Amino acid sequence: MKRIFVYLRPHVPRMILGVIIKFIGTIMDLFLPWILSHMIANVVPLKDMGLILLFGLLMLVCSVVAWAGNVLANRMASRVARNTTECLRHDLFSRISYLSCRQTDDFTIASLESRLTTDTYNIHQMIGMMQRLGIRAPILLIGGISITIFLEPVLTLVLLAMLPFVGFAVFFISRKGIPLYTKLQKAVDAMVRVVRENASGVRVIKALSKTEYEKARFSRVNQDVVDRETKASVTMAASNPLMNLFLNAGLTLVVVAGAFRVYEGQTETATILAFLTYFTIILNALLSINRMFVLYSRGAASAKRIGEVLDTPMDLQQGEPDHVDTPYHITFDNVSFAYHTGRKEAVSDISFALKKGETLGIIGPTGCGKSTIVNLLVRFYDPDSGSIRIQGDDIRGIPEAELRAKFGMAFQNDVLFSDTIAENIRFGRDLNEDAVNKAAECAQAAGFISEIDEGLDYHLTIRGSNLSGGQKQRVLIARAVAAHPEILILDDSSSALDYQTDARLRKALRENCGDTTVIVVAQRVSSIRHADHILVMEQGKAAGYGTHEELMQTCEPYRETSISQMGGGDIGE
Ligand code: ADP
Ligand code: MG
Repeated sequence: MKRIFVYLRPHVPRMILGVIIKFIGTIMDLFLPWILSHMIANVVPLKDMGLILLFGLLMLVCSVVAWAGNVLANRMASRVARNTTECLRHDLFSRISYLSCRQTDDFTIASLESRLTTDTYNIHQMIGMMQRLGIRAPILLIGGISITIFLEPVLTLVLLAMLPFVGFAVFFISRKGIPLYTKLQKAVDAMVRVVRENASGVRVIKALSKTEYEKARFSRVNQDVVDRETKASVTMAASNPLMNLFLNAGLTLVVVAGAFRVYEGQTETATILAFLTYFTIILNALLSINRMFVLYSRGAASAKRIGEVLDTPMDLQQGEPDHVDTPYHITFDNVSFAYHTGRKEAVSDISFALKKGETLGIIGPTGCGKSTIVNLLVRFYDPDSGSIRIQGDDIRGIPEAELRAKFGMAFQNDVLFSDTIAENIRFGRDLNEDAVNKAAECAQAAGFISEIDEGLDYHLTIRGSNLSGGQKQRVLIARAVAAHPEILILDDSSSALDYQTDARLRKALRENCGDTTVIVVAQRVSSIRHADHILVMEQGKAAGYGTHEELMQTCEPYRETSISQMGGGDIGE
């Protein structure tokens, strides 16, 4: 909530002006019944038409000023709300784009989306409403009570006696309401998630005729949002009838007591009439205050969720340079990492060391942590313990741009853009035609590209959907090798290639990228068996490390995979 005030600060002058205008307008509203009562009691009996008209004119002026003041102030309030929310949304967005992968995982993308949309909208509503009613309602309440005390002290006491009841009702109900609104926003998160999954998986859903299933799934989360909204609203709505009950009870008492007092000549009918009008004003003011509490509860819940994002510290900051002398190019030293703090580790205690130009093969079943090792090396995430060094420098101390420039990467599910093949290989870098051709050749993409009429100028559709899986992978590999990176990472990126092409690719890499250190992640033994080192992964742990021959002797899981895939012989190359 404190954050919101920070965002409101630049608008303080405008808000003060708004308050003054609102104040004048509201005071005019308060005067109206009083003038009326005065007219009925004192002016009308004089039977002076001129004077009556004069007072009528006064009332007209008062109501025009009240109306104009309110409209003006409300417009100013909307503008403040709009501008404040715009700034807030802007900051939230830029903060989100700087979140690290781990922080994004922790929040979930769906939740970030709904924070950026519905939560900021709730804040917008709250700021607008607070300005519109926040001034007016208290003035009407306090002003109304003061005037009634002045008009009829005895009857006002009846009214005041009701207020503590009303106050308690509002307090207890809104205390229950805020947590309910927090839960509601969580349900909205879930709904956004389903919509996202639906949009991104739309082809699979159609292909597998899962549309009905997805509809049912959406109905469920949608229903959940409705249920929680209902629960929160019903809880908050209880305060309205309760207040009405208390206040109308008070009103009845006022009428009864007033009747007696008029009968006994202690007061006049005109005063009672004015009193009743003020009573309605006070009642409305209380209802407005109650409505403010609802919006406040909602806004406070949302402000907390937005604050959580804005307050997350910058992750993956560049640390102090930390260098040790080592003959190795890449070293992993007892590295452990869990995607979510406190949950199961995705990789534990991984160590290996590669000299420049060497190749590491990583093999293991899906979900065993192969990609995690790669993610840690390129510093998408920081390890929880242990260290990763490149040429002896801890990667946490290397400037991000410098670190990223070292890598050429191809992942299985990388994206191709809707552009020519050449541009997809170039990827915004300053590479000449020759370099692009060489890269395509090395990645074994030249063959199929030359069969296309447009060649390298062939225009890809979004995500490269006009290429086959294996062709896409080869374009991605070409992109990875194009800039002659210091370290080349191929994560499951030759899985769609046939054995021969895969073998030719490895040969080309050996010939063209002699001094490049290569990390190849694969499921097929044939893809990595000639690597200088092989890391066998099993459930996040290293099950073996060595050359193919060594592992065949010592590592049971590796031997089993190898025999099942290649019959133990030397096929594949
Ligand atoms: P592999 O590449 O060997 O198939 P990964 O390294 O991608 O396996 O995943 C290792 C484990 O970490 C798996 O259990 C997977 O579910 C989990 N994991 C991977 N990415 C994330 C993520 N972004 N958030 C949470 N868990 C993840
Ligand atoms: Mg993977």
